[in-house]
Amino acid sequence: MCWPAPTPLRRTRTKAGDHRPGPVDPRGLLWLTGDHHIHTQYSPDAQCLVSEQVARSAQYGLDWMVITDHGGPAHQKFSVESTNPDIVVARSANARTLVFQGLEWNIPAAEHGTVFVAPGKDEVGLLKEFEGTYDGTVTKTSAASAANEKLARDGVAFLGNAVRSGRVNDALMLANHPARRGVDSPHEIRGWRDADPRIAVGMEGAPGHQAAAIPGPGHEKNGRGYYDNGPSSDSFAGYPPESYVTYGGFDWMTSTVGGLWDALLAEGKPWWISANSDSHKVYLDTRRNATDTGSGGNNANTPYDATPTTPPAATPTRSTPASPSPPTATSGRASTATPSSAPPTSPTAP
Ligand SMILES: [Zn+2]
Repeated sequence: MCWPAPTPLRRTRTKAGDHRPGPVDPRGLLWLTGDHHIHTQYSPDAQCLVSEQVARSAQYGLDWMVITDHGGPAHQKFSVESTNPDIVVARSANARTLVFQGLEWNIPAAEHGTVFVAPGKDEVGLLKEFEGTYDGTVTKTSAASAANEKLARDGVAFLGNAVRSGRVNDALMLANHPARRGVDSPHEIRGWRDADPRIAVGMEGAPGHQAAAIPGPGHEKNGRGYYDNGPSSDSFAGYPPESYVTYGGFDWMTSTVGGLWDALLAEGKPWWISANSDSHKVYLDTRRNATDTGSGGNNANTPYDATPTTPPAATPTRSTPASPSPPTATSGRASTATPSSAPPTSPTAP
């Protein structure tokens, strides 16, 4: 099964079990707790249903969440459309949780990023066009090059133009696990932001997969957040060896005093950091997925896969989706979700 029985988390600003958002600040803004990086059955290395991820997120008290399955040719061709009806149903079944559709963008010449849009009549069409035109795997532009870096900036600008033209009400991009492989150069991150600072608003400060380093068979060498890599030919040569690991679970760009995050803020360039789950599967899940090796392979929970269970049938009925506005635009800062463990590999993820 996905997501075994949870121990409900206590909200700090509201009573336990009360999912109302926190207090309104003097400017009329709300603090909304969410997770901008969640995978489902539409990722080859994940297997939870959209309905399960949304229901558990609501149960754990998230105010908003984003479905971000891996970008790629099959996802672009089939899964963007397949995911949307599931999201529509989940919105209806969890009316107090804002559920956004997005994708985990293979940023050309760089790492992954979250891209998502406000719900609306063209969310599917826009995401498909974006992924087909600007995803590094779809367009075979993942290698480091000036032309590929430009395509990434063009992708951010495309989203900005889509918002300005009214095609979608809003869109956001955040860089995921930015220091994990050393391929997000400082000038690239600045370039994304400068391409449209209203769209590219931040990066993961505490990446998901925090449970990856929990001792267990098959993952003795896994680092927290699956930060257990070294430089490649695509990596920025200026990053030192210590940039490839996390510190207290935080990405080096965030955890280093005077590092990239500090530098951006010192330059007067607002740049949010987030903590999120990157949920593919959860430590005590018993359901297998397609990338399980079954014997000390790439899953933190390999021992539990000995007794796979049948996924529950999705039974909710469809109804009209809610049309919430994007949370980050009003709250500014994304917040925490339950850490998860997940396989480190996929067709698109190292
Ligand atoms: Zn991910």
